[in-house]
Amino acid sequence: MDGKILIVDDVATNRIVFKVKLGAACYRPLMAASGMDCLRIARSEHPDLILLDLTLPDLPGVEVIRHLREDPATRDIPVVVVSSSTLLEDRLSAFAAGADDVFFKPYDDDLLMARVRNLLRSRQEMADLTEGHDPLMFGLAEPGAEFSQPGVLALVTDRPDVALRLRRDLATLIRDRMVVLGQSDTLSEVEPGRPGADVYMIDATGAQLDRALRQVSDLRSRTATRHAGICLMTGPRLPPEALMAYDMGANALVSAEMTMAEVAMRLRSVMRRKRRADVRREQLQDGLRLAMVDPLTGLYNRRYATARLSVMADQACAGKIGLAVMIADIDRFKSVNDRFGHAAGDHVLREVSQRLAANLRSDDLLARIGGEEFLIALPATGLADARAIGSRLCQHIQERPILLPGGEALQVTVSIGLALSDDLPPHQRQTGSDLMTEVIDRADRALLLSKQAGRNQITLSCSAA
Ligand code: GH3
Ligand code: MG
Ligand code: MG
Repeated sequence: MDGKILIVDDVATNRIVFKVKLGAACYRPLMAASGMDCLRIARSEHPDLILLDLTLPDLPGVEVIRHLREDPATRDIPVVVVSSSTLLEDRLSAFAAGADDVFFKPYDDDLLMARVRNLLRSRQEMADLTEGHDPLMFGLAEPGAEFSQPGVLALVTDRPDVALRLRRDLATLIRDRMVVLGQSDTLSEVEPGRPGADVYMIDATGAQLDRALRQVSDLRSRTATRHAGICLMTGPRLPPEALMAYDMGANALVSAEMTMAEVAMRLRSVMRRKRRADVRREQLQDGLRLAMVDPLTGLYNRRYATARLSVMADQACAGKIGLAVMIADIDRFKSVNDRFGHAAGDHVLREVSQRLAANLRSDDLLARIGGEEFLIALPATGLADARAIGSRLCQHIQERPILLPGGEALQVTVSIGLALSDDLPPHQRQTGSDLMTEVIDRADRALLLSKQAGRNQITLSCSAA
């Protein structure tokens, strides 16, 4: 991300003032003089943030925000409204349309720049998740704008009267569940079994400010709360130190002089962004899992196995731990399909997978790397143990017939080829990747010997014997 910021203002001097400020802070300013220009440039240039004036010659600024939010290509771009309007309705309608923040003139320059840095950083975190690619390219559906379940908002204050008033005033304005936490309880469970809230609103009025700032960095550093939305509630005038809150990772500042309607709008915007990011993270995790796992058996797939094995081989190369690699192949599997059908074949594959998994340790690697072929890698395992484990696997597969869905009981066997990393001549062990290729190749050849010798047995690679 290169800090591309789109300045949208119909007054040329305003654009230039921003351009100079942003240029001085090493951002790359882009400029638009109308609402249509803004939408066009946002779509073609993918800016990282938009600074938007509300009064434009062609479209009202609020309309521009709505269009930006409707289009998947521009939906996630942070929008900061900078306007000379002083009307509360304008502020509220900008938030309602989806603005991330609203600054009315005269505004504090430092505060605006802190907000820009803060929003760019959140955006960078999201971009890091998808490594800068469009999430839609990963087949990730757009998270819906609204969520069926309400979120959890924690009100953090040691003053019961403040907690009571906030709770009462916000109740009609937001649909999220509210819990009240004392200022020393921010890191405790918000509800039994629920480690963190979606959004924390922390009392930072008067003398509480220092403590509130420490709480921001504390929340950001803990696993359970580091993705939470954080909002600081300051006194009527924003103290200069409050800017630091943005650099420490707070997502919004609200002050005692704002109306409850505006406080609620800001909280909703923080909640919306936080929950959209959660959905995105979950989708990516699912995608990641699917990229690693074979859907039929639930075992790791070939791609994952190759990557893991290469790490194991690097360690073996560095002389840390030896590595035993086996390739197991179901015997005469084609005839299972031919006699009982493909679905029965699939059933056998799943059952064999389960039996293999049940007889290996948790740090062993087990993967399905071909139709009826499995890779097993055992770290820190010597010849005698590897051979015993392989024989045991053959035994566990053949000793109990597999019950097919059609009711038939079928005896299934596997053949195994075994190779050991310690067994290769030193000149072939220069890199982990060489070692991996060589070990797999040897295990494959040993497997062939098992098949030739009558199947249902384990054979060591020639040089290991
Ligand atoms: P061998 O003992 O020499 O290993 O004989 P084999 O029949 O097991 O080996 P072959 O390679 O001739 O046949 C493997 C069969 O596995 C052929 C293919 O149709 C079947 N197969 C591969 N993937 C799947 C799958 O996902 N499901 C099912 N049901 N069958 C599969
Ligand atoms: Mg086979
Ligand atoms: Mg095969």
